[in-house]
Amino acid sequence: MPEYSSPAAHADVVIIGGGVMGVSAAYHLATRGARVTVLEAEQLFGTGSTALNAGGFRHQFSTAVNIELSKLSLELLGRFEEEFEQPIGYNPCGYLFLLDADKDVTAFRDIVKLQHAHGINTQWLAPDDVARLAPQVNLDGILAATFYEKDGLVDPSGILQGYVRGASRAGATLRTGVRVTGARVENGRIEALQTTAGDVSGGTFLLAAGPWSGEVGRAIGVDVPVVPIRRQIAVTSPIPGLTKKFPFVIDFSQSLYFHYEGGAILTGMSNRDEPPAFNTAVDETWREQHVEAAMRRLPLLGESEIAHEWAGLYEVTPDDQAIIGRLPQLENLYACTGFSGHGLMHGPSAGLAVSEEIFDGAAHTVDIAPLRWRTFGAGEYNVV
Ligand SMILES: Cc1cc2nc3c(=O)[nH]c(=O)nc-3n(C[C@H](O)[C@H](O)[C@H](O)COP(=O)(O)OP(=O)(O)OC[C@H]3O[C@@H](n4cnc5c(N)ncnc54)[C@H](O)[C@@H]3O)c2cc1C
Repeated sequence: MPEYSSPAAHADVVIIGGGVMGVSAAYHLATRGARVTVLEAEQLFGTGSTALNAGGFRHQFSTAVNIELSKLSLELLGRFEEEFEQPIGYNPCGYLFLLDADKDVTAFRDIVKLQHAHGINTQWLAPDDVARLAPQVNLDGILAATFYEKDGLVDPSGILQGYVRGASRAGATLRTGVRVTGARVENGRIEALQTTAGDVSGGTFLLAAGPWSGEVGRAIGVDVPVVPIRRQIAVTSPIPGLTKKFPFVIDFSQSLYFHYEGGAILTGMSNRDEPPAFNTAVDETWREQHVEAAMRRLPLLGESEIAHEWAGLYEVTPDDQAIIGRLPQLENLYACTGFSGHGLMHGPSAGLAVSEEIFDGAAHTVDIAPLRWRTFGAGEYNVV
């Protein structure tokens, strides 16, 4: 057994948060034999960001570590149905990045080289190629595009439910309606978490509270630079003629995206001026700008109306990269958080990686060195 195990502890590892990160880590730890407890504040698992995302899955990243996390996630998801009897709705419709600025074309040339070096055969497309691939898209101003055919869509709820089932079968204790409010710390170690259901002791603690990670960190006495940033989504009424093959399109310079969603289109656009806040009300002013931009790029949206819309929270770090591994402030506290917009797709691999950080001292299935605790500078070339 790993050295953190103690006969007095209720659990070897106590996980704060039952979103995709928490339940994936719980599964990976429990299958190694650790006694795991997950504490989820809400009455159901996965009602945070995990329930509110766009379901996108891509390998097209600008950092090696994120490309490798995506490759490992897809490998793990490939075994999902057999392992958990849980379909995850993988639709390899491809991600199509549209580029309309010279500086982005230059930057993406290097990014595509990096992807190729990691075995991701991203194609470089001219506007004519894009017109054949997605004839519905208005290509005004588009200089070039990139496309990778194994990128696409997955079902967030399928992934969550699979890990809940897998963790439970492997013996993890999954508790809902238990909110962590503080910690009892002695000699630089957490002895127990204080919760709305009393103290919960353990040997090791894992912070996986998504957009609430900064807040929960403060409650237990550590400074974790993760802030909640609102992101908004609209789904249209059905649009005749669309098929599942329609790609996940990203209009890069506008941070605008859209994809096929059950016979309709799901679209989102990031407001770069959105301040950090726990605000999930739909912003009507932003909706107007978003819909206008989306209709310019995909004119057939004019044939539909908004059928559903919602806002959720990204869990954002200063450099837009996740934090995986031990936190320096307390001896027995780890984190798996701060995925800044791509945590669903990295849930499977990051959960495995953090389980290895805890169990084996360092992740070895995938190299997550750049995501361990670090000095947080500004974001690099952000493809969120
Ligand atoms: C609009 C939108 C679109 C997105 N699109 C994509 C996409 O296309 N692809 C992709 O990969 N990612 C996407 N994401 C990001 C993705 O959803 C997140 O990165 C991922 O779900 C994070 O999972 P998590 O488990 O860290 O957080 P969460 O799912 O938020 O889980 C954290 C959990 O912690 C619980 N919690 C909070 N405080 C406490 C406490 N004090 N005690 C106990 N529990 C607590 C919460 O209730 C919550 O259930 C999107 C996000 C949004 C908002």
